[in-house]
Amino acid sequence: MQSLPKVVIFATGGTIVSSGANAQQVTGYSIDKVKVSDLVDAVPALNTVARISVEQVSNIDSSSMTSSVWVRLAESIEALAADPDVTGFVVTHGTDTMEETAFFLHLVLKTEKPVVFTGAMRPATALSADGPFNLYDAVRVAVHPDAKGKGVLLVLNDRIYSARTAAKQHPTNCDAFGSFDYGCLGLIAGARIDFMQTPVKKHTTATLFSIPKKALPRVDIVMSHADDDGVLIRAAVAAGAKGLIHAGTGNGSVHESTDPWLFDAAEKGVLIVRASRINAGCVTEGLAKWQKAGFIPAGTLSPQKARILLQLILTVTSNPAEAAAMFAQY
Ligand code: ASP
Repeated sequence: MQSLPKVVIFATGGTIVSSGANAQQVTGYSIDKVKVSDLVDAVPALNTVARISVEQVSNIDSSSMTSSVWVRLAESIEALAADPDVTGFVVTHGTDTMEETAFFLHLVLKTEKPVVFTGAMRPATALSADGPFNLYDAVRVAVHPDAKGKGVLLVLNDRIYSARTAAKQHPTNCDAFGSFDYGCLGLIAGARIDFMQTPVKKHTTATLFSIPKKALPRVDIVMSHADDDGVLIRAAVAAGAKGLIHAGTGNGSVHESTDPWLFDAAEKGVLIVRASRINAGCVTEGLAKWQKAGFIPAGTLSPQKARILLQLILTVTSNPAEAAAMFAQY
């Protein structure tokens, strides 16, 4: 009999390993009580899909995610990606920043093997906890032939998303993820796994980036609002930011009181990306004066994903035109 494929699960923390005081508690719970091995043991059906091994990378609420965890996770995956015995990877992660860690890996990992993130909106102790089924589905996707070469994926609530477009869109509902204008890559319906789309933007083996060997450059996000006066831009520059993501209003618009401070930052060599606090849609090139100053439109990237791309771009160039060309490709 042919042996089952092998899937390595990397655990990072999050609600999927959290416990409440009772089965009705679905907010205000703590994350440190349930071990990922308990979670795996709670889903015996996993052993009919794959040979599972588990590695703990961190055990944190993902709202406190750091780039050192990103790098540790990326190194752990890449070290095993060359092993012919391993078919795919699952990462269990808090949902709050899952899209950021997944996008970082989507840009740096050099493997075609599936890397599938999953998590939960309800603690493991809750009535109708969503974690066990999400984990089961994520492992099934990690061994599915159509998952190969599609970059990093997220699997939650019966849907498969690309790390490039996935976004947490609800703070408490089990159906918390979406992709704004782009939909999901595929659906899970009972035994069926149907991939319908494939990501077009460069990822994994096609990117210029690799796992950073030193700390990523500082890039801050500053959100626009009424009475904005650029104080946070000045603070970011003073703190040593090498890049700034301006999460503007509408199509990346800038408050007239803040605008001069963006130019001031650019003159000091800081790369400026104009994103939108709306998250959906596409931020375009904008005013001629911004283009002349080398401000980069975020395109279809949210501010938090534009930040990750800019951090990685800054590891290879600080030229605004080259950075803008990369924003169009990734
Ligand atoms: N705060 C949690 C986290 O991101 C939420 C979750 O996992 O759903 O770790």
